[in-house]
Amino acid sequence: MPKKASKKKIVVGIGGNPNSGKTTIFNELTGSRQKVGNWGGVTVEKIEGNVNYNGYSIVFVDLPGTYSLSAYSLEEIIARNYIVDNKPDVVIDIIDAGSLERNLYLAVQMIELGGKFIFVLNMADMAEKQGLVIDPEKISAFLGGPVLFTVGNRGIGVQAILEKVVEIYEEKEAKTRPIKVSYGAELEEEIQKIQKKVNLDKQLRGIYPPRWLSVKLLENDSDANEKVKEAASNPKQIEEQVSKSRQHLEGIFNEEPEAIITNQRYGFISGLLQESITLGESKKGDLSQNVDKILTNKFLGIPLLVFFIWLMFQITFNVGSYPMSWIEQGIEWISRGISIILPAGVLSSLLIDGIIGGVGGVVVFLPNILLLFLMISIFEDTGYMARAAFVMDRVMHLIGLHGKSFISMIMGFGCNVPAIMATRTLENEKDRILTILINPLMSCSARLPVYVLIAGAFFGRKAGNAIFLLYTLGVVLAIIIGRLFRKTLFRGESEPFVMELPPYRVPTLKSVIIHMWDRAVIFIRKMGTVILLGSVLIWFLSSFPIDKEYDREYKTRVQTIKQKYEAVSAGSSVSTEEGERLSNQLKELRREKKQRDVYYSFIGRIGRGIEPFFKPLGFSWKEGVALITGFVAKEVVVSTLGVLYAGEADEAELGSVIKQRSGLTPVTAFAFLVFVLIYTPCLATIATIRQETRSWKWTSFSIGYQIALAWVLAFLIVRIGGILV
Ligand code: GDP
Ligand code: MG
Repeated sequence: MPKKASKKKIVVGIGGNPNSGKTTIFNELTGSRQKVGNWGGVTVEKIEGNVNYNGYSIVFVDLPGTYSLSAYSLEEIIARNYIVDNKPDVVIDIIDAGSLERNLYLAVQMIELGGKFIFVLNMADMAEKQGLVIDPEKISAFLGGPVLFTVGNRGIGVQAILEKVVEIYEEKEAKTRPIKVSYGAELEEEIQKIQKKVNLDKQLRGIYPPRWLSVKLLENDSDANEKVKEAASNPKQIEEQVSKSRQHLEGIFNEEPEAIITNQRYGFISGLLQESITLGESKKGDLSQNVDKILTNKFLGIPLLVFFIWLMFQITFNVGSYPMSWIEQGIEWISRGISIILPAGVLSSLLIDGIIGGVGGVVVFLPNILLLFLMISIFEDTGYMARAAFVMDRVMHLIGLHGKSFISMIMGFGCNVPAIMATRTLENEKDRILTILINPLMSCSARLPVYVLIAGAFFGRKAGNAIFLLYTLGVVLAIIIGRLFRKTLFRGESEPFVMELPPYRVPTLKSVIIHMWDRAVIFIRKMGTVILLGSVLIWFLSSFPIDKEYDREYKTRVQTIKQKYEAVSAGSSVSTEEGERLSNQLKELRREKKQRDVYYSFIGRIGRGIEPFFKPLGFSWKEGVALITGFVAKEVVVSTLGVLYAGEADEAELGSVIKQRSGLTPVTAFAFLVFVLIYTPCLATIATIRQETRSWKWTSFSIGYQIALAWVLAFLIVRIGGILV
């Protein structure tokens, strides 16, 4: 019953771990004005107290103390249902500042429930004794609510809580909370799927925060399951999705989703603590913390990261070269077999020059790509990836982005498409578009075949270094361009974030193999579709039209040489010298025909049409054509070169053919690689950018700036390189 109609009533729930000082603070705030009863129907004590403050009537409700908000104990269910069902105006979380990690575990679950929070770091005296220096601003930004320090048993700081309560209550709009614990790509995907089903259910979505409910369902939370059974209009649909998602995740991780979710929460907390707390001298950490002291060290962190990435490319190139030569050998056998079985003609040309030259030329890079993905998944599974993002956070701030964007960048080393999709974890639209725009500069694995081919041919033993240089260039450009765009197109600050820092782990063979296998399947599927079609098309364009007159003339010339040869070898006066001369003549003739055919073919005409654009860069029309077809997918650059240079030299190995016949020098070859690095990666990336930005404007901007940048940089390299060399 309201005592005075003019007084505004504010209901405040007080939650926290047992022994965090809740009752002490509650008593300090409410004095003797408390009512003791039981929570509806159960014998857990319920204490309420009323305070009049500045014209407000504030009702405090002391929630049962809990360590978590799962459904394992009655206390936990009471506490969370009170927040979800009664929707108190403000929730205060009393945190024992002396054991932050355990207490924050409750806090990160509370914020998932939604609402207005105040975080009271009680036992500030204990924290001080431990030598902790806590940055309240940072914790406040990370948790999305104000932070106060108190020493409850001495009443220090407690009255300030009242003022904060009123202030938060009067804030008309709830602060947007950019922070949520991110459970990692795989779990997030499943959470999304469940949430979609929850959102379809109007009734359910009106009662419970959809994301929270979805996470709980994925955790197989008994109370959440019951809620769905009771409140959903179509519980079957949701339950089916949940069990599908759980099975999928158990298959991947070999662990129950609830365990992974718990780990991620602790990872979030550990990242938060890393950012906002300075440890006193006396404190010794566990193994993870000690390793982190080195890997995320202010000075060592970045050099170590660079070293690991360098190592990754050395292994990719050097170890990969062995299986690569086996595959090359196999392909050569196949094409020799075909040339023996089939008579020379259109069909054998299609098979040998078109399909084997094009697809085979790319398949040989499968080992490199698998190794690259192996390394990336080791980074991810050991927990190093999160540290890399943490270390890069400071650098990323230069461009007004944060470490989370860097994760999408490292994923870009694998493939830009999922990397661009991963920007969904960034909630700020500006941050997101900026991260999307610079992502294609991260050199994806499809570009690797081109690097391995050209760098292998022109830089020999130093190829690994050249490739590393390209990847580094991509990252540096992304940072420079990002800063430029931030200053011009996307002004503003980046939002606070917490990098989840999961404990280090030895990755399981199973998960590493599953990741690698997934990539292999995608790669092989791409071979069978895009690259096969592309190769056949390019073969067709390069083989037709046929100049009939020249064809006839060529055949008669071949005939004459063959006759002469037979005459020489049939006669008694066998001259091997003469025979050799004739067979060389034949080879030369074939090569000439091949070149002439391609030159006058459709593709030759197209190539000469675009030649002026690439001429200043020192590329021949064949490289130009390869770059154009490379819009479809970067591997197609290799296929195209394979088809265009097929039969141009005796040597089967494409790299050395290109080295002999293309007219590229080490400088222009490097410029070519830089061009490949920077210009638009592929159609799939373009489609993804369109889908994720929902804007043709940004999509065409992305294509345009990349082509322009690629040209200008390649040009500079050719010019400067020309002076130096
Ligand atoms: P609850 O279980 O959360 O209700 O915790 P209590 O309020 O019962 O407090 C547990 C113990 O911690 C009591 O002995 C309090 O006197 C003590 N305590 C409360 N606040 C502080 C504080 O800020 N510093 C210290 N050193 N002790 C405190
Ligand atoms: Mg108590």
